[in-house]
Amino acid sequence: MGKPTGFIEFPRKTAPYRDPAERIADFREFLLPVSDEQRKEQGARCMDCGIPFCMSAMGCPIDNLIPEWNDLVYRGRWREAIDRLHKTNNFPEFTGRVCPAPCEGACCLGVIDPPVTIKDIECAIVDRAWAEGWIVPRPPSQRTGKRVAVVGSGPAGLAAADQLNKAGHRVTVFEREDRLGGLLTYGIPNMKLDKKIVQRRLDLMSAEGVHYAPNSEVGTTVDVADLRRQFDAIVLCCGATRPRDLPIPGRQLAGIHFAMEFLTANTHSLLTTHLSDGTYISAKGKDVVVIGGGDTGTDCLGTSLRHGCRSLVNFELFPKPPEQRATDNPWPAWPRIFRVDYGHAEAAARFGEDPRRYCIMSQEFLDDGEGNVAGIRTVEAEPRFEGGRIAFDERPGTERTWKADLVLLALGFLGPEIALAEQLGLACDPRGNFQAEEGKYATTVDGVFAAGDCRRGQSLVVWAIHEGRGAARECGRYLMGQSPVNG
Ligand SMILES: Cc1cc2nc3c(=O)[nH]c(=O)nc-3n(C[C@H](O)[C@H](O)[C@H](O)COP(=O)(O)OP(=O)(O)OC[C@H]3O[C@@H](n4cnc5c(N)ncnc54)[C@H](O)[C@@H]3O)c2cc1C
Ligand code: SF4
Repeated sequence: MGKPTGFIEFPRKTAPYRDPAERIADFREFLLPVSDEQRKEQGARCMDCGIPFCMSAMGCPIDNLIPEWNDLVYRGRWREAIDRLHKTNNFPEFTGRVCPAPCEGACCLGVIDPPVTIKDIECAIVDRAWAEGWIVPRPPSQRTGKRVAVVGSGPAGLAAADQLNKAGHRVTVFEREDRLGGLLTYGIPNMKLDKKIVQRRLDLMSAEGVHYAPNSEVGTTVDVADLRRQFDAIVLCCGATRPRDLPIPGRQLAGIHFAMEFLTANTHSLLTTHLSDGTYISAKGKDVVVIGGGDTGTDCLGTSLRHGCRSLVNFELFPKPPEQRATDNPWPAWPRIFRVDYGHAEAAARFGEDPRRYCIMSQEFLDDGEGNVAGIRTVEAEPRFEGGRIAFDERPGTERTWKADLVLLALGFLGPEIALAEQLGLACDPRGNFQAEEGKYATTVDGVFAAGDCRRGQSLVVWAIHEGRGAARECGRYLMGQSPVNG
């Protein structure tokens, strides 16, 4: 344990962000550096609990050795800290930036005080390790002669590829997009996760022997039968890419887009031509309504602001969450409380108020007379739970219209595209995800594994890494009868 009285002496201090009013002028990362002294103090707040709930089932999904590296940071032993961190997490620079940190929600200190800044500490350890040159290619010393195809290059696919490569198998990652990284690249915007950071890890894995095949869509440009013939096993990490729609009158109008159409085109143009090619959906000068919250909704807010939108509103169907944990949401469960994410803070800085409007049910998109969206008609609604299902009761007299010439739908995702499942002949579960038992990852087809959002449904980067590691372990067992690398 770092400092026995650390949690009494030092208040929680998170890494600061750039000023919201200034940062919306560019797509650069918003995290600011922190002094070593502050890191040390934050590490010292860890109590090295007898039962570290940060690592429990409610906490970190990848079993990060959190109290160990908190202590190492307190003592300034950064090199050992990165070794401990890499034991459980292939990509701490991703989770250190984008994870909502269930570990902090479960941290024991959170019972009486604000929790340890675990995510910031993780990010600091890995950023320092890259800066010091401690992270270098370490190709496996032996090859097994087995070949594995990983389909999809998001965090699940990359974690599976990294683990399988380290175990000595020859791995090719197939990705249908022109750039690798899945939602790390074309979902999460640059200001939250700079794409140079994704590329740096991809380059490292390439130097270690992982082969990449971008612009290769398995099931269309890459024949599934060929893949089966050429590889000893396949790991599907295709993501949950089917967006939930809002089929209300006027949905066909121009100017209504799924969030991913907006975000993907933006990052593509940003990386290719710094947004000078005009190939993206611009929010400049527009009245933007984002329907749906979560990370995707927030990213639409942040991106619209950077384009220079005229106004910005975010509809949420559910009521505003409480400021503190409700009685049915005790520690160590993830706290379902009101939070101000980066996009909300930026909208407030630009327009003087939080963009979120709660209990809003959209009823109709309004036409400008020329086939373009001009507004949305809504009503306020109250959720009601009935027999395990949610219904919404409209509040009479609350109808209103909102001006909108760009509408972004961020309503979540329904599961993976099923064309590939059909070609491979594998079963889907009742939710439409690829069927594979938790912890086993084997689909109903011999030698084919599934991990990440395509197996568990829309989730988090940290869960995708967990699943990719687990699928690699099980795939390794299938190939060799055992796996030389722990999952
Ligand atoms: C906008 C947005 C923001 C998010 N922000 C956060 C966040 O801040 N923090 C967080 O923890 N989580 C966040 N998430 C969730 C997180 O990104 C996902 O849970 C995670 O990326 C899932 O990883 P994955 O590897 O399973 O799939 P993905 O990252 O979706 O990758 C799947 C890849 O498979 C490729 N693919 C699909 N089919 C084929 C095929 N037939 N052939 C070849 N390639 C194929 C796709 O092109 C894609 O690149 C966000 C999600 C979205 C949509
Ligand atoms: S639960 Fe919190 S205080 Fe306890 S070991 Fe984990 S990080 Fe440290």
